[in-house]
Amino acid sequence: MSDKLDALFKPKAVALIGASQKELSIGNVIIKNLLYYKFNGPVYPVNPKVDEIRGLKAYPSILDVPGEVDLVHIVIPPPFVPEEVENCGKKGVKAIIVNTAGFAEMGEDGSALQRDFLARAKKYGIRVVGPNCQGIINSDPNFKAYCNFTFTFPDPGHISIVAQSGGVGAVILQAFYDMGIGVGMYASNGNGSDVSIPEIMRYYGNDDNCRVVVLYVESLDDPNEFMEVAREVSKKKPILAITAGRTDKGAEASRSHIGGLAGSISMELIFRKTGILTFPNQEDLCHAAVAFSYQPIPKGNKVGIITNTGGPSVIAIDELVSHGMELPPLSDAAAATLKETMLESASIHNPLDVVATAGSVHFKSALEVMMNEPQFDSIYINFVTPPFVDCESVAREIASAAGEQKKPIVCNYMTDKQKWQGTSAILKAGEIPCFDFAETAARALSALERYSRIRSRKEGKVTVFPDVNRDTVNEIIQNALKHKKEVLTAEEVYNILEAYNIPVADWRMAHNESEATRCASEIGFPVVIKVDSEKFIHKSDVDGVAVNVKDAAGISEVINRMQKNLGHDINFFIQKFLPSNRELIIGAKAEAGVGHIIMFGLGGIFVEVLKDVAFTITPVTDHEAGELIHSIKAAAVLRGFRGEKGVNRDVLVEVIQRISMLVTDFPAIKELDLNPLFAYQNSICAVDARIIL
Ligand code: ADP
Ligand code: MG
Repeated sequence: MSDKLDALFKPKAVALIGASQKELSIGNVIIKNLLYYKFNGPVYPVNPKVDEIRGLKAYPSILDVPGEVDLVHIVIPPPFVPEEVENCGKKGVKAIIVNTAGFAEMGEDGSALQRDFLARAKKYGIRVVGPNCQGIINSDPNFKAYCNFTFTFPDPGHISIVAQSGGVGAVILQAFYDMGIGVGMYASNGNGSDVSIPEIMRYYGNDDNCRVVVLYVESLDDPNEFMEVAREVSKKKPILAITAGRTDKGAEASRSHIGGLAGSISMELIFRKTGILTFPNQEDLCHAAVAFSYQPIPKGNKVGIITNTGGPSVIAIDELVSHGMELPPLSDAAAATLKETMLESASIHNPLDVVATAGSVHFKSALEVMMNEPQFDSIYINFVTPPFVDCESVAREIASAAGEQKKPIVCNYMTDKQKWQGTSAILKAGEIPCFDFAETAARALSALERYSRIRSRKEGKVTVFPDVNRDTVNEIIQNALKHKKEVLTAEEVYNILEAYNIPVADWRMAHNESEATRCASEIGFPVVIKVDSEKFIHKSDVDGVAVNVKDAAGISEVINRMQKNLGHDINFFIQKFLPSNRELIIGAKAEAGVGHIIMFGLGGIFVEVLKDVAFTITPVTDHEAGELIHSIKAAAVLRGFRGEKGVNRDVLVEVIQRISMLVTDFPAIKELDLNPLFAYQNSICAVDARIIL
């Protein structure tokens, strides 16, 4: 398939502006790398001061190069870059990798130079990678393009890597190399001034050779573009990413309002929303990538285990089960077959212990049964190499079973790789993902299953509630903005919530005792009296909340006390006193370029001590709202336990979606906190709310 990034990843000829004879220079190393990796086309060093570099004729200018050039590296100092880009345009170059640093990352002068060369590139339709970057690699034997100054030379493979940080990218590339696993394409785009990470992701998505995309990204220039592309690609093939900055999110949220949230959460939420598989560390990510590059995606979470050693399967089962995998029993028919074919001492169950003396016939039968048993979606193997067994023929059986590509196989291969080189080679040629530890193999297999779940998950729909009153909210917000007011009054907040039919306890505003008494009799005793003032954000901290006020005398006492302690300029928020059942918190926080992050959790000790909150990104679909509720640790409390009735899930889903709609309709809302909401069996009611613009 032809694509606008072909000139970059599939160049026919490469030139290097700033080529150098100095061995320890980027302008020399890139040429060395291209030659060493056996680039499939001409390499043209450009340097007006020398005649040849590494045996190649050097040209004074890109305009002097005789043949067509589609890709150019530029490694000269920043001030000279714009002019050379101009020359590239005249030459008909299609893509440029600017390796040189010292542009936008260095302040205004650098930014100006970057804008200058980009404008020139654009004029000629040239695509630019970088500046301040490594470049690309394509291991395809038709190209063998090592347009990069690093030092790891991958064999062809089905994993493709795109990294914002060249450092991380290079580490991952080397990790695959050390495991003997090939890589298809590699790109590190530095400042990302033109060719963006999403564009590269899409390119990998369209590349038939690529089976899995490894992504490292720390920040997004355009979250919307990223999300759109990630959604599109993750449906076709897995995208694997690290979640950086996973420091205790709950700790921030435990201040029980959403304002303190770390920005890094949003990256994880974007990954989740768009179907990117996340990993806590580079190691797990690399292992999973190996499994994806070789094996098909399982249909479900049911795994059959074949083992020739006891202990590792105990460890594997713990790991598999903790990742949501299940081990169904063998069917009667399968057990009967295996009784015939296995050694006497074998244990005919799942896990199927073929015992250490098992040879190829036993493995063959075990694999056949598991491959054909419909209740297994994948096969996990513990294979230790006993010195009294013909291990090469066992490996051949495993490879041949995997060759059918019916169900994924992952192997915990326990051996001395020096002594069992033949066996190892057979497993490698058979594309069996092999790992030294049971946990590692189990986690890699679980990742395949996780992707299968992601790919088949329901996205759900964003409910658009027709019964909302946008004009009311708009008027309140415009008025506040006009007066440069950030914290809305209780009256404004509750009017906004009511306009979006978000249930709140019955309320009135009062300025003095007599108004408060009248309001209370309208609402009906008992009531709650709260101070309403910009000065007191946390009302109970200043003794500004009086609950269960039963009569007029109580009102008089509370109002006088609050006026005395908090000043006479305060207003009073009179609210129906509600029986407290389960307290929930829901928050929303604006996140640049993303929309809003929505937080959900149980109030009280659940948030303050257990930090048990979950997050998602707007617009929240019905399905996502359900998952959000489900994903807190205390979800069971909401479902009801020990005779306690649960809380109707649909009611919760609706409130979350209404809040999502409110903040989406009004991006000016910077923070919205409902803390607490009281949840009952069939209804929910906010008793405290705050909005900051
Ligand atoms: P703040 O969070 O500013 O201190 P709240 O309005 O949340 O003030 O009130 C503090 C606590 O008082 C709430 O967490 C809740 O337990 C209780 N409370 C508030 N309003 C009501 C009400 N209408 N009915 C019953 N209890 C309430
Ligand atoms: Mg509160």
